[in-house]
Amino acid sequence: MNAAEKALVIFSGGQDSTTCLFQAIREYGRRNVHCITFLYGQKHGDEVKVAQKIAAEQRISTHKLVDLAWYAQVTTNALLDSAVEISRDADAGYPNTVVDGRNMLFLLVAAIHAKSLGIQDIIIGVSETDFSGYPDCRAAFINSCNATLNLAMDYAFRVIAPLMRLTKAQTWQLADELGVLEYVAKNTLTCYNGVIGSGCGSCPSCVLRQRGYDEYMELKG
Ligand code: ZN
Repeated sequence: MNAAEKALVIFSGGQDSTTCLFQAIREYGRRNVHCITFLYGQKHGDEVKVAQKIAAEQRISTHKLVDLAWYAQVTTNALLDSAVEISRDADAGYPNTVVDGRNMLFLLVAAIHAKSLGIQDIIIGVSETDFSGYPDCRAAFINSCNATLNLAMDYAFRVIAPLMRLTKAQTWQLADELGVLEYVAKNTLTCYNGVIGSGCGSCPSCVLRQRGYDEYMELKG
C-alpha cells in the first residue's frame, strides 16, 4: 500500500468500522483518511454522534455525513422501524436486522463521493466469518460490487474489506495490535439498543461483540 494514496472509510462508529479507521490511519496516514457516515433512519441516531465524535478526535481529513432518510420509505426493518422488535432468532434464515441492499447502497454513494475526492480505495468493515446471514457482507458480493462500480464510473476503485476473513475475536486482536483495544471497547457503539461501549449485553450485536472479546482475552491469557 502506498502512503501517498488516500482512502475513504465507510464509518458507523461501531467496533468494526472504528477498527478499520485506525488501521487506515496507520496505513495511509491521518491526512489521507476520509470518512463517510450514513443516516438512514436508524432507531439510534446516537450512532451518528458517536461517529462524529470519533472522527473529530482522530483528526482525519474530512467526514461526510449523508442523509438517506428516504430508506425507510422503500423497506421495513427492525433497525428502521421502531414498531418492529429486534429478534434474536432467525426463523426466516436472516435476522430481522438485515436492511436490504444496505451495503450496495453505501458502496455506491461512497464510491461517488470517493471519486469526487480523487480517492480509489474504499474501506468497509464487513466480515463473512461471523456471518449472521447478511448476504451483502460476503466476499462474493464485495468483489462483484467492486467490479460493477468500476464499470459504472469508469474508475479503478479498490473496495477493501480488511475484516472479511476475521472472526470477532480476531477483530479485537487487530484493535489490540493497533494499540486501540481499550479505545474501541469504550467509545464505539455496536449495540442495537444504543448503549455505548460494552452495550446492553443482551441484543444479538452485544452478544456477538462480548463473545469475541472474551474469546480474544482468553487467547491472550
Ligand atoms: Zn445491545
